[in-house]
Amino acid sequence: MEFELDKLVRENIRELLPYSSARKEFNEAAEVWLDANENSFGSPLPNDYNRYPDPLQTSIKEKLSGSLGVHSEEIFVGNGSDEAIDLLFRIFCRPGVDNVLICPPTYGMYEVSANINDVAVKRVDLTSEFQLDANSLKNAVDENTKLIFICSPNNPTGNLMDREAILDIVKAFHGVVVVDEAYIHFSGALSLVAEIGMLPNLVVLQTFSKAWGLAGLRIGLAFANKQIVDLFNKIKPPYNVGQIAQEMILDALENEAAMTETVAAIISEREKVNAALKTFPFVLAIYASDANFLLAKTIDADDIYQFLLREKIVVRNRGNIQLCEGCIRITIGTTDENAKFITALENYEKSLVY
Ligand SMILES: *Cc1c(COP(=O)(O)O)cnc(C)c1O
Repeated sequence: MEFELDKLVRENIRELLPYSSARKEFNEAAEVWLDANENSFGSPLPNDYNRYPDPLQTSIKEKLSGSLGVHSEEIFVGNGSDEAIDLLFRIFCRPGVDNVLICPPTYGMYEVSANINDVAVKRVDLTSEFQLDANSLKNAVDENTKLIFICSPNNPTGNLMDREAILDIVKAFHGVVVVDEAYIHFSGALSLVAEIGMLPNLVVLQTFSKAWGLAGLRIGLAFANKQIVDLFNKIKPPYNVGQIAQEMILDALENEAAMTETVAAIISEREKVNAALKTFPFVLAIYASDANFLLAKTIDADDIYQFLLREKIVVRNRGNIQLCEGCIRITIGTTDENAKFITALENYEKSLVY
């Protein structure tokens, strides 16, 4: 399918004269900075944060570019991947006119973001194997379909989507396919980031919130060809990522080995929790996971959820979601936390017997 970015972008965004921040207009070495109405005296803190941060997060992009083999201009850094999701709607989707496709059960933000932007959502359910239904997806596309969201590994089911099916959809679609790889580090699969050079309508989302253990910093990434990244940069709030977050990400990227280590530990814990869950008669199925959580089908998700709350353990009740009837989603915790969770389930089992 011929991909014509210009036709896909909303006219007001194509024509937009973006805000030009002080630090964007002049960002070289200077001695006296009197251009941005900052407070030159400093901050009421041990360290100063009185200066606006780099609007384009150049250092982070340079570092990521080296380690991931993509160009800096193919990376967008956002205030969480949720910012990237919202910007995609604002770039491509005319409110009240356009629509997007999602594949439930999946991450809730795609639909919320669509609703905020007054964009219709068309649902093409995953198969009973929680895989993409590529033919139904292609059939659901109409001329106003701008985005297809694919989450791989998927939340809340935990599994990777078939790579060939994703690529098939990307190649067949006239719009933009967004592949959300928030959990890719737990999967052992190759990221689709390697494909962005070949596929001009592919956007890959990643985040520092999961494998990197930095959810509190709010940093998400979008990888795409330069033309799409330029659109992100054109419409984003000028200083969308704070100074501290930028500094901390740079430090974390120096210590990738620590990330890899905790990912391995989480995977090993995931297998232990999986084995323990299997022994409970009230657990009907545990789905194969390529992520840092498990989805388990139980006889009564509400009852188990409430019981665990009384034991001061919070899991995610997904029982009211289509194709997830009876399911709870359990994030893998530390060895200690997981042991407490399993003990609580043993108590639940006893409460059923007596
Ligand atoms: C957790 C999660 C994210 C992360 O969002 P951030 O805004 O980067 O914290 C993105 N996508 C999915 C599917 C998730 O589960």
